Amino acid sequence: MKVGILGAGQLGRMLAISGYPLNHQFGFSGETHDEPSSLLGHMFAHKDNINSLIEFSDVITYESENTKVEIIKKINKKVPVHPNEKSLFITQHRGREKALFNQLNIPCAPYQMVNSESDLKAAIKTIGLPAILKTVTDGYDGKGQFLLHEAKQITKAWKSMNDVESILEGFINFKRELSLIAVRGIDNSHKYYPIVENKHHKGILRLTIAPAQNINEKIQKTAQYYMKTLLDEMDYIGVLTIELFETKNGLIVNEMAPRVHNSGHWSIEGTNTSQFQNHIRAITGMPLGDTTPTHPFCAMINIISKLGDIDTVLKMPNTHLHLYDKSERKNRKLGHTNITANSQAKLNESIAKLKNFLP
Ligand code: ATP
Ligand code: MG
Ligand code: MG
Repeated sequence: MKVGILGAGQLGRMLAISGYPLNHQFGFSGETHDEPSSLLGHMFAHKDNINSLIEFSDVITYESENTKVEIIKKINKKVPVHPNEKSLFITQHRGREKALFNQLNIPCAPYQMVNSESDLKAAIKTIGLPAILKTVTDGYDGKGQFLLHEAKQITKAWKSMNDVESILEGFINFKRELSLIAVRGIDNSHKYYPIVENKHHKGILRLTIAPAQNINEKIQKTAQYYMKTLLDEMDYIGVLTIELFETKNGLIVNEMAPRVHNSGHWSIEGTNTSQFQNHIRAITGMPLGDTTPTHPFCAMINIISKLGDIDTVLKMPNTHLHLYDKSERKNRKLGHTNITANSQAKLNESIAKLKNFLP
């Protein structure tokens, strides 16, 4: 099939790489002709060329939850879009997302919508401190957030939101950050990846341990139950990610992403079918692939800002380098390294060898 992707970054690039062995072709709509996906298919640069992408494609998907719902609506009149408009509408807005979690009895942080400084004052009265103020849309890598410890920060916190609609969330005292990735097919089949552990630095994911250690079956099953409830409720097709906080009272859902996710990049060599290929299989109506890990101990280390010593990665026997064809820039994701290992000791040793890639 001809698959159209809105966006042409590294996610589009890895989706295309995973889809070529299945005989699919790819088209992208990006801003310029020089993006990570540019050489991997037909490039329809510039938003005006959305009509050319529609003409090219049998099915369309998107790379980012910040895609405009209006665009999806327009495309869907001519070509099917997955995940559907409803899923995008909910997942691109933290308020709508949390309202759905509450409706479905999925635990999440207490929250209140905030549209002014006085709203913020009132919200702090109900939710308490510490709390995090976030813009409801367009945030990523922790951008557009303000952590409030005391009431005297209220004015500064509200100012930092630049008058856009915001949400105040109670601060969750978590033990670890986890995520679960799953995929739902057109035939309503579901596949789940094992829960992974994510370590961030300054809001950016740096290291994923896959599977996360000490996840008992009850935790995995609970997260899968939340996931299935969400997938079915939204009539979702494709890969969905939920970010979780592990607390002493169980799992709390932080947010969801209607797409393949950085914490699933390990699945390229770490599982029988990567998140990328499963997304492509789902949206093109193919049977979903097995998500079993190929090795019991895997990890993913992001390459951020500078390429660094990639020769070390290339020389190691159990590492897999993935670069995104991007130039170096502060805080930019340039690539990642996947590690596969047959023992915890081997995994630790490999991570230690790559410590220069970690903050
Ligand atoms: P992403 O790049 O994953 O899309 P984002 O910008 O949408 O991130 P969040 O995932 O909501 O932002 O928050 C970023 C990080 O801030 C989380 O990974 C977590 O470490 C911390 N955080 C967010 N919300 C809370 C909360 N309610 N309590 C405690 N920590 C939080
Ligand atoms: Mg997010
Ligand atoms: Mg997040």
